[in-house]
Amino acid sequence: MLNIILMGPPGAGKGTHAKWISTEFGLPHISTGDMFREAMNSGSELGNKIKDIVNGGGLVSDELTSALVKERLSRPDCANGYLLDGFPRTIPQAEALALFGPEIGREVNLVIDIECPEDVLIARIAGRRVCPKCGASFNVNTMKPKTEGICDYCGSPLIQRKDDNASSFKVRLDNYFKSTEPLLAYYRERGLLHSFDGTLPLLNMEAELSALLKGKR
Ligand code: ADP
Ligand code: ZN
Repeated sequence: MLNIILMGPPGAGKGTHAKWISTEFGLPHISTGDMFREAMNSGSELGNKIKDIVNGGGLVSDELTSALVKERLSRPDCANGYLLDGFPRTIPQAEALALFGPEIGREVNLVIDIECPEDVLIARIAGRRVCPKCGASFNVNTMKPKTEGICDYCGSPLIQRKDDNASSFKVRLDNYFKSTEPLLAYYRERGLLHSFDGTLPLLNMEAELSALLKGKR
């Protein structure tokens, strides 16, 4: 069984690799960032509550985020494995998951960490364009869509995320180093951590991920 957490700083390629892993291994892709963006787009109560925090690059509260993930992982489509992207992002979230995971039969057994130097992250985020409909991610310099401004997968016009501006990105990166990076030691101590070089070409990365996941399946 593959109950996976995908970690890495913003811009490391989590979304891109998550899409590939989830298709290749038939795992539901649970992205807290996507869940929050959907809530904001739908104008729900949750969406309105978190809008300013998310657009500014801040973190949504641990309580709210953990409750949302617990509910989502409890659903039957996660019974045979899942890929969690963007959660946990803080030690309290990891501790919450360590409690509710086993409780709902969804204990984590693998953590994939994608590493990437800061200058590469900054360049990637500045050029990133995303599909608001299917969540696919492109880059105007390094991962151009086949037709400029259009999603390869669903044909929707691409947009720039509101939090992909210089000041929000700085907040996200600071949060990553302060709150999320300590999780690497937490999962390393528990023997779950596997780190990958996020600057590798996509195909090499997929080959390495595939080798790891096939061995664990
Ligand atoms: P990134 O590209 O920075 O990894 P995501 O798409 O994963 O971005 O998340 C976007 C935003 O959603 C975050 O900057 C944060 O505001 C919010 N968010 C996502 N996951 C979490 C979490 N686990 N805890 C708190 N806030 C979160
Ligand atoms: Zn699309």
